[in-house]
Amino acid sequence: MLACTAPVIRPQTLRDALRARADRPDATVLAGGTDVMVYIEAGVLRPSAVIDLWGCHGLRGIEVRGNELRIGATTTHSDVARDPRVPAVLRESALTVGAVQIQNRGTVGGNICNSSPAGDTLPVWLALDADFQLSSVRGTRRVAAADYWQGYKQTALAADELLTAIYLPDVEGEAHFRKVGTRMAQAISKVIFCGRRSQGVARLAFGAVGPVPLRVRAAEDALAAGAPVSEVVRLVREGIVPIDDVRSTRDYRARVAGNVVGRWLG
Ligand SMILES: Cc1cc2nc3c(=O)[nH]c(=O)nc-3n(C[C@H](O)[C@H](O)[C@H](O)COP(=O)(O)OP(=O)(O)OC[C@H]3O[C@@H](n4cnc5c(N)ncnc54)[C@H](O)[C@@H]3O)c2cc1C
Repeated sequence: MLACTAPVIRPQTLRDALRARADRPDATVLAGGTDVMVYIEAGVLRPSAVIDLWGCHGLRGIEVRGNELRIGATTTHSDVARDPRVPAVLRESALTVGAVQIQNRGTVGGNICNSSPAGDTLPVWLALDADFQLSSVRGTRRVAAADYWQGYKQTALAADELLTAIYLPDVEGEAHFRKVGTRMAQAISKVIFCGRRSQGVARLAFGAVGPVPLRVRAAEDALAAGAPVSEVVRLVREGIVPIDDVRSTRDYRARVAGNVVGRWLG
């Protein structure tokens, strides 16, 4: 049985959610709960209060706004996976998050805010040049995905803010997503890769190869300038900082990160 007797606040509107966050910066935010409930059950998180966003109106859904796609923070991975307006690489990444039960409940905002370096959607936001909308009673600001993750589980989100939406620009070109794990499904990633290229633009973004999801800028510049694939692969292996851990070794991660890029670029 869950050992959690903390009060649960269930705001119905964004305004009430932001007020609750301002009043209780100590509280744990819960969206789908697929990370939070695991932490509570394991005893590593003992919330003083919970702000439950699941029923909050205006935070879930996908819509086109001008040249951008707006994805509400509590939009689930299943919602993302079945919407044809969503870029294919993001839909693919959503379908690798756990199994269907997790995809039906887990949210994109939860994946972003949980900030695990092995979060499967994180390199995709980087490769697609996403902006994150962070809101509080003080106002709303946008932070580029590239500036959001600042250290292991450290982010640009202030204590009184919520992630409210993700904005995707209408990008062109060819993109590719690849998750490498022990199995094809239900595995924590050893390497996650999302790449995108169009005329003069390249994005090479990785997860699970360092304390934060990251882009390898030197390799991106080389690719955009037309360098040979072998050179791009070399710069990728040089540019990531993987760790040895229970799931994999540093050498394996560096080798595989280069391989997935090499195979994509052919
Ligand atoms: C069996 C299982 C398998 C899984 N497999 C995968 C996998 O393959 N790949 C993967 O990437 N993840 C996986 N996960 C982790 C998890 O499902 C995802 O990270 C999911 O996207 C989390 O979303 P959530 O809405 O459930 O987050 P929650 O658990 O509700 O929240 C996660 C964190 O984000 C914070 N938060 C959530 N929403 C907001 C917001 N709007 N503003 C501010 N803070 C917020 C919470 O306070 C918490 O710190 C798995 C989990 C389980 C239990």
